Amino acid sequence: MVVDDRPAIRQLLAEALGDGGHKVILAANGYEAIEIVQQQRPDLILLDLKMPGLSGLETLREINKFSSGIPVILITAYGELSDPGEAERMGVRCLIIKPFDLHEVRAVVRRVLDGLSV
Ligand SMILES: [Mg+2]
Repeated sequence: MVVDDRPAIRQLLAEALGDGGHKVILAANGYEAIEIVQQQRPDLILLDLKMPGLSGLETLREINKFSSGIPVILITAYGELSDPGEAERMGVRCLIIKPFDLHEVRAVVRRVLDGLSV
């Protein structure tokens, strides 16, 4: 599942991951993301940190109330989290810094889905 408030970024990631052979579900905000996880448990969440409404981490806190263990890749324009420990406990496996390289995104997604370290 790709969660980002910017349509162009959702589109870009959907195409890149679709080309990589993944089935991609798109969410435009945290509320949609929570609803999707309630209905179908995605294998992985690519999650934008900065979104209007619920932020990426707020979204993740809600998701973790009913579903834990889904690996998460956070997409951010900044390199640091205020509480990396909490993020890790909520499933965050790594950060991808914007502007990102699509080859890198595909490689990281593949590694996380394969259960490898990133
Ligand atoms: Mg954003």
